[in-house]
Amino acid sequence: MPLIVQKFGGTSVATPEKIQAAARKAIRAQQEGNQVVVVVSAMGHNTDHLIELAKQVNEAPPAREMDMLLSTGEQVSVALMAMAVHRFGHKAVSLTGAQMGIRTDNSFTKARIKTISTERIRRLLDDGNIVIAAGFQGVDDDLNITTLGRGGSDTTAVSLAAVLRADACEIYTDVDGVYTTDPRLLPEARQMGQISYDEMLELASLGAGVMHNRSIEFAKKFNVPIRVRSSFSDAPGSMIVSEPESSTVPVCGAALTKDEARVTILGVPDKPGSSFEIFKRLADRKITVDMIVQNIGEGDLADISFTVPNEELKETLKAVKEAVSVIGATGVTHDDAVAKISVVGIGMAAQTGVAQRMFESLAVAGINIQMITTSEIKISVLVQRSEATPALRAVHQAFGLHLKPSDAKQWQIGQKPTNDLSASDIIERLRSSNMEQLTLLDISMVGDQARVTLSGVPDTPGLAEKVFKQVADAGVFVDMIVQSCDGYQGETSISFTVPEEQMDHCMKILKAMDYKFRKISGSMDIAKLSVSGIGLRSHTSVAIAMFKSLADSGINVLMINTSELRVNVVIDGKQGDLGLACLQKTFAASLL
Ligand code: ADP
Ligand code: ASP
Ligand code: MG
Repeated sequence: MPLIVQKFGGTSVATPEKIQAAARKAIRAQQEGNQVVVVVSAMGHNTDHLIELAKQVNEAPPAREMDMLLSTGEQVSVALMAMAVHRFGHKAVSLTGAQMGIRTDNSFTKARIKTISTERIRRLLDDGNIVIAAGFQGVDDDLNITTLGRGGSDTTAVSLAAVLRADACEIYTDVDGVYTTDPRLLPEARQMGQISYDEMLELASLGAGVMHNRSIEFAKKFNVPIRVRSSFSDAPGSMIVSEPESSTVPVCGAALTKDEARVTILGVPDKPGSSFEIFKRLADRKITVDMIVQNIGEGDLADISFTVPNEELKETLKAVKEAVSVIGATGVTHDDAVAKISVVGIGMAAQTGVAQRMFESLAVAGINIQMITTSEIKISVLVQRSEATPALRAVHQAFGLHLKPSDAKQWQIGQKPTNDLSASDIIERLRSSNMEQLTLLDISMVGDQARVTLSGVPDTPGLAEKVFKQVADAGVFVDMIVQSCDGYQGETSISFTVPEEQMDHCMKILKAMDYKFRKISGSMDIAKLSVSGIGLRSHTSVAIAMFKSLADSGINVLMINTSELRVNVVIDGKQGDLGLACLQKTFAASLL
């Protein structure tokens, strides 16, 4: 019999009436001949209220007790949902995370799922019950209650769909599907027919709150097609599958992370191991770091900037100050009034001028870019928080995201996923003792790239746009771009990589620009090492393990960029082979 997992988010179960409406949807699915598992979030803003309550008792509550408290929100909703199903004359049993056998690690408030046992759920389903599963929670090996992080009920739903080999996984929420950006911020956002796992994973981790990013890691790893749809209508919604909606557009969506903070460490000795000393302290605290930018040092000192979620700033500064005294850096600055705007699209990898189009739209809107990082399928910029929404609008408009691509695909109802993974691959992954463990797909080196660095770039709107317009107009294919802030007073530096054979041409163009930079330098002798996999940004340990492995062999990291799909580092070309060997050794156990 087909099996379907339905997940109802907080707004979809906010009132007794809405709980009854959700129960009816589940019953209808059962009557259509499916076995049904329903995953439920806490009612309305209950989780927020519980957090508020905890803070009134203790400003810094212990994480274990926080999870004990937060898990009660979902326990209330599953019981009520089961009662609603009974009221309509059908059988239902509610289960907590522990009762379902969702085992996690013990990192309270951000626990990762290790295993899920399906026996009890199967038995209940075979007995004709609708199984009502509490989202967002599990238990560790000592039976302590854990939670998966805000928005984690999506991850419960998709992971259950994976282990139960469900035929469908439906995420019912308060919007009609996945939009090109948050429709609450930009009413002109367009609902997509479908979006690829890679794009959704990237967008979710860059701020598109419609799906918990880790749920998409599961979806991709276990090939679970997800339908995101409205609780309040029968509209078909959007599918998250392996194929993108369009193969011609460079960008499919834009996202905003409003609560970002920037930290810069000044005067870092530019030698192997410095980055590792900094980032290991953040990884130990499970702080998700993004936009790591290191400017190419002048003299023997470099500045390293990165962003973290604002709520983790305090903890981050504590960790960083420790590192500063160990490595002998000169100081730390931070800015807690910044926001990150990102565009994402599989198509950008094959087109030139995409970054320039983004920078141009911001320049025209008079918005200053404080930092830039790019990777294969995303470009992120940091701007002042007060300019976040206008910046998002400018970028959304520049890529015509409100318009439906001419080759837009639409996933058909009942269509089965084309399987890149064989059934045996999936079973093998499921058998693993740790479902959310790091999955790496490839470790590689590219040796035919060159680096170009501009120092002394004034920190004013429009300059990045001018630089990359000239470069794009000349047909130069720009790969990694990083711009950092705060190097010298009011100045920034921009580094990027280009194909080796285009470096001379590129340098000539830059030297001919009417703006004179303090210094334009370049190097043909670089190697780019890449580790690719699934969910790499949220597995903070990857970048750390790379830093450590390279530092242990005396290799200095010159540039770095990270995305959910890949971590790239640029090192001295002479050390390329050694670096590659180090990484292959370090990650041998995690490679699929
Ligand atoms: P639920 O409680 O159902 O899990 P969430 O609030 O977590 O709901 O997610 C739905 C919200 O996500 C929407 O109301 C919308 O404001 C926001 N959102 C952010 N980015 C997007 C996007 N790209 N597409 C759709 N919704 C988005
Ligand atoms: N109730 C939890 C939260 O508000 C989990 C979820 O809704 O997905 O974050
Ligand atoms: Mg949610």
